[in-house]
Amino acid sequence: MKFSNNALSIGSVMGIPIRLHISLLIALPFIMTYFPTLSLGFRFLGAIGLFVSVALHELGHSVVARAKGSHIIQIMLYPFGGAAMMSSIPKRPLDEVLVAIAGPAVSLLLGVLGVFLHIFYQIPLALELGVINIGLVIFNLIPAFPMDGGRVFRALISIKLGRLKATKIAADVGKFFCFLFVIGGFFYLHSLMLAFIGGYLYVVGQAEYRSVQQEYYINAQPIQQNEFEVEVSPPPYASTESFGTRLRNFFKR
Ligand code: ZN
Repeated sequence: MKFSNNALSIGSVMGIPIRLHISLLIALPFIMTYFPTLSLGFRFLGAIGLFVSVALHELGHSVVARAKGSHIIQIMLYPFGGAAMMSSIPKRPLDEVLVAIAGPAVSLLLGVLGVFLHIFYQIPLALELGVINIGLVIFNLIPAFPMDGGRVFRALISIKLGRLKATKIAADVGKFFCFLFVIGGFFYLHSLMLAFIGGYLYVVGQAEYRSVQQEYYINAQPIQQNEFEVEVSPPPYASTESFGTRLRNFFKR
């Protein structure tokens, strides 16, 4: 383990460095409150399990992106989600769709596994993590660029419209969702984390649009040194109260 640039390197998986941002270490006690039904020790395990789930989701994106020619710089875990940082996200629409759905596909498998473990062996923690993973699938498939659903949306419309126009439309739709997340997080769901996620997605989405713009207009290399594109995947924090409870009850036997 090594601490540098505000993050703790905890090792690498398949040659991809995994790092924990300092804000995640600070937010850990807060994240433990998302498991109110568990005992203190299991809340801690739940918080760890949540970020292992997010890391595996990011690894899903990363492994497919690497197979399509991207260089994966690292996976960084923040309290508001995971970010797979890569030299560039594959640009062919089909490749981009495959990279985008690889993360939710991993989460879906983990979700099904968690639910089955609970049904057959009655493990409450497995159910909690299973629900979180199913939440990861559903939340990340919202077409809010730069989330996974938004990337699929961009790839599909880029077949007709080209990458620049498609990114503009996807980023505008993404902006709309960001405002919903911020307003919904602050005023309706009392989830500060959702509001943060909205702000974070806004910044990342606009940065990626500018990068695509640069590529077209200035005819420069879109990715300068120290710059990269990111696959961001926030956890479904907003849903832990209403939607999460419903989902949990559905699977409880
Ligand atoms: Zn994702």
